[in-house]
Amino acid sequence: MATLLKGKPLADKIKVAITQEVTELVARYGRAPKLVAIQALENAASSVYIKNQKKVAESLGIEYELMEFPAGISQSELEKVIKRLNSDKSVTAMILQLPLPGQIDAGRALSVISPDKDAEGMHPQNVGKILLGKYSIGPCTAMAVMELLASTGVDLYGKEAVIVGHSEIAGKPLGLMLLNKFATTTVCHIATDKRGALADHVRRAEVLIVAVGKASLIKGDWVRDQAIVIDVGINKVGERIVGDVEFEGASAKASQITPVPGGVGPLTTTMLMRNTVEQFKAQLAGIE
Ligand code: NAD
Repeated sequence: MATLLKGKPLADKIKVAITQEVTELVARYGRAPKLVAIQALENAASSVYIKNQKKVAESLGIEYELMEFPAGISQSELEKVIKRLNSDKSVTAMILQLPLPGQIDAGRALSVISPDKDAEGMHPQNVGKILLGKYSIGPCTAMAVMELLASTGVDLYGKEAVIVGHSEIAGKPLGLMLLNKFATTTVCHIATDKRGALADHVRRAEVLIVAVGKASLIKGDWVRDQAIVIDVGINKVGERIVGDVEFEGASAKASQITPVPGGVGPLTTTMLMRNTVEQFKAQLAGIE
């Protein structure tokens, strides 16, 4: 039976390290990092995220400010706000809360955020650094998965790693991150499944990461004996939240597996805060 790879104890451990680092930075530079969240459309889900972000930020000694705008805000008004924050020295990083109102081109607005103030690690310049293997920030979901893998103590060098899903927040950056660790990396996606080849790839995986959003996509008996399984998926089935991997069957074969909920999820906000602190350090290094 697999051991559970729980996100919360790991997040708590990382938070202790972040708090210590922030305390030292405040003592040395006389100010704390500050994260600004921009919300232009009230939405139940994003309001929950915002509340949680504020709580986590403040518990770590990071200042958090929510800037709310009416849903009628225009693209140019929003971009003006972002540009003002880009040049405000008291602001370390920002996050654009999604969803945005329909008249806003989210991609264009995101690209206006300075790569030096990009809390989510999604600016093309920051994503490019992952390709080059020289990065201290990255997309929060992918960074959370890498932390979980590191916590297992597995040496990724030469391991068969299979990722299912090739989104920009998870599968694609994870492909690069695992290559940087010299894992033999396969990235599967919708076309792999349409071709009928998904099970064959999954069966080879010593490290399996699934980020799709389809309950029971990965059958328990596909999982290789002693594999490490990270299930990023979140699906509502009736009243239950489940991942993309059939949990019971998979945990009978895997050595370690993330529960859903309680695996990757609890780590993502912590990664957002760590990105913010990394940006703060880079900005301070620039003025020293
Ligand atoms: P996305 O919708 O952007 O991408 C889905 C990916 O799955 C695509 O690459 C697509 O090609 C692939 N795919 C779709 N059907 C497939 C199939 N039948 N076989 C193989 N691949 C298939 O997804 P996303 O934003 O990366 O999110 C994926 C899942 O992860 C969702 O359930 C989302 O809710 C969840 N998620 C969880 C967290 C967390 O904190 N735990 C964070 C982000 C996303």
